[in-house]
Amino acid sequence: MLVVADEVEPGLWSDAIRSMPVDLLLAAGDLPFDYLEFLVDALDRPGVFVPGNHDLDLDLGGFDSVAGIPLRAGFPSRWPGPRGWINADGEVVTAAGLRIAGLGGSIRYNDGPNQWTEAQQARRARRLVRKARRRPVDVLLTHSPPRGVGDREDPPHRGFECLRDAVDRLHPAWMLHGHIHPHGEPVPDHQLGATTVRNVVGHRFIEIARSPANLEGYSPPIQRRWAVRPARAIGRGHSHT
Ligand SMILES: [Zn+2]
Repeated sequence: MLVVADEVEPGLWSDAIRSMPVDLLLAAGDLPFDYLEFLVDALDRPGVFVPGNHDLDLDLGGFDSVAGIPLRAGFPSRWPGPRGWINADGEVVTAAGLRIAGLGGSIRYNDGPNQWTEAQQARRARRLVRKARRRPVDVLLTHSPPRGVGDREDPPHRGFECLRDAVDRLHPAWMLHGHIHPHGEPVPDHQLGATTVRNVVGHRFIEIARSPANLEGYSPPIQRRWAVRPARAIGRGHSHT
């Protein structure tokens, strides 16, 4: 999979990526939507994202999808998020045979969008864990890192304590986040139990084995133009063979 966050990579915003062997795109927030839309179109693979603190306040509540057309209150409507991407904020979604739990946003440091106090994010994290229904996920995709695991001490870049607990309960192979700009310094991975925590600012290619439990229902390539609901969205090319 190709994971992107926070910084546009000019090398990826080019036709050269069309031939890259990527099954799944993940985005950990704070990227322009036209960049995300280019990537999902060029690679023609599913994309799953969570919003960051520099993204719009995506009021995605109330959207539904019928035959790939986003509806709000029963009427066709332009979804304000990146076209072709699944918003995994607070959701557990399945894409390209992987189970991905998402939790966007950063710690609250001003009145900007997608910012949460520790208590608010902890509530959101508990809801996310409940949605996973005691089954492990392959990836926990967040914008912010956990507290004390690659975060910083300045108020906007402090991590969330509750994400450590979420890792504990969701047992992801990978926890992928953005938000912390390395400014040229090397960014080491961290371990939380069996989970590898990686800062993906810029981009990273990651190989991940699909867990057999998730292979059922997977038939590549899945192409969703307007999938708003996480799983079981009605979309072209989605079959259960
Ligand atoms: Zn950020």
